[in-house]
Amino acid sequence: MNLQFTSRELLFRDEVRDFLLSSVPRDISRKLRNDHRLSKDDIVRWQQILNAKGWAVPHWPVEWGGTRWTSVERYIFREEMQAFPAPPPLDFAVDMIGPLLIARGSDEQKRRFLPRIANLDDWWCQGFSEPGAGSDLAALKTSARRDGNKYVLNGQKIWTTMAHYADWMFCLARTAHGEKKQSGISFLLVNMKSAGITVRPIITMEGDHEVNEVFFDDVQVPAENLVGEQDRGWDCAKFLLSNERTTIARVGVSKARIRRIKELAASEHRRGQPMIEDRRFRERLAALEVELKALEMTQLRFLAGEEIDGRTGASDATASLLKIKGAEIQQATTELLLELAGPFATPFAGDEQQMTDDDGGRGLFVSPEWATRAAPTYFHWRKMSIYGGSDEIQRNILARGIFGG
Ligand SMILES: Cc1cc2nc3c(=O)[nH]c(=O)nc-3n(C[C@H](O)[C@H](O)[C@H](O)COP(=O)(O)OP(=O)(O)OC[C@H]3O[C@@H](n4cnc5c(N)ncnc54)[C@H](O)[C@@H]3O)c2cc1C
Repeated sequence: MNLQFTSRELLFRDEVRDFLLSSVPRDISRKLRNDHRLSKDDIVRWQQILNAKGWAVPHWPVEWGGTRWTSVERYIFREEMQAFPAPPPLDFAVDMIGPLLIARGSDEQKRRFLPRIANLDDWWCQGFSEPGAGSDLAALKTSARRDGNKYVLNGQKIWTTMAHYADWMFCLARTAHGEKKQSGISFLLVNMKSAGITVRPIITMEGDHEVNEVFFDDVQVPAENLVGEQDRGWDCAKFLLSNERTTIARVGVSKARIRRIKELAASEHRRGQPMIEDRRFRERLAALEVELKALEMTQLRFLAGEEIDGRTGASDATASLLKIKGAEIQQATTELLLELAGPFATPFAGDEQQMTDDDGGRGLFVSPEWATRAAPTYFHWRKMSIYGGSDEIQRNILARGIFGG
């Protein structure tokens, strides 16, 4: 099996690189390089640049804006964006609800929503998890009672990422109590401006507002906003979660961070020498690079397999393996960055501080900008082991893939 890109794929990679170089707004790539949070406007702006180029939704059918790229080309495109770095597409929109509507939506839903998703005119959030229904999602209790030509929604969602930006939520709600808890769930599109919706922030340990609680109090949802059949929403949820997993390992993100660590380690001094000269630090960096290379090869091996036997989408076990390892490596890069920042990562960011240990004779210091972001970034990316199915759940899937059952 050939794990090298073909000459055609290398040309395509150059084309993507040239485009990124000329098109990613400088202020946005600077924020990403320094691990600052992107605003809603940053993400929308970039998506609209991609849409103008015709590259907003490469994995969709051509009639809805897709590109006919192979899975390797789609992989190259996403990895190059991560490595540049450019903002990631809003996965709730282009990777989740878009493909679901293409596969299961009514013609009216497709016409109404798909062009607006590609251009990010509407911001989407995912209303699946509830208190008591995360890993065991089918235990959800939010109810949708049919009343004429509408549903009446009551209940609560939790951990809803960027619900405070959202115009729409795709939501799972119970419409019946079947024998199996997976039956009797329906998939609804909920306008977030509807009366009866309250969005309450959850502030995470790094001090950021990204996730929310969302409460529904007699919220009216037009019946035309049901996707697929009533009580069969579980099928939609499974379809949606299995989509576009070619870049689940986020190799490009880790590559970009390792590149940044090397640059910083060459200029940051500790005990009178650049950190890159510190043997222990170098060994850890090298070990991480080897792991990342192995992950990249594993990802490419799966992609090459897809190209050969025409499968689309990684199997559940493959996706789980890539997600677990990708998260571990990405988290390890944030740990290394934190170590590199050392005392500069303390919360007195920007203040003058007195060095207490051997500081190479600098005495008072002001934390450089990148170092003030090292601790929040470290804490922020712990989430990768939880969202989209926790590591333990992924290991269960992996075990079933290996041993059956
Ligand atoms: C930052 C962040 C963003 C999120 N964004 C969204 C979002 O936008 N929309 C949304 O719907 N949800 C979102 N989630 C929710 C996420 O999907 C759930 O947190 C996740 O599925 C875990 O569910 P839980 O929190 O209820 O934990 P639980 O399911 O209660 O799990 C608690 C612990 O028990 C372990 N565990 C549970 N069951 C098993 C088992 N069978 N075998 C072994 N171990 C098990 C878990 O791994 C975990 O360590 C987000 C979560 C986070 C942290």
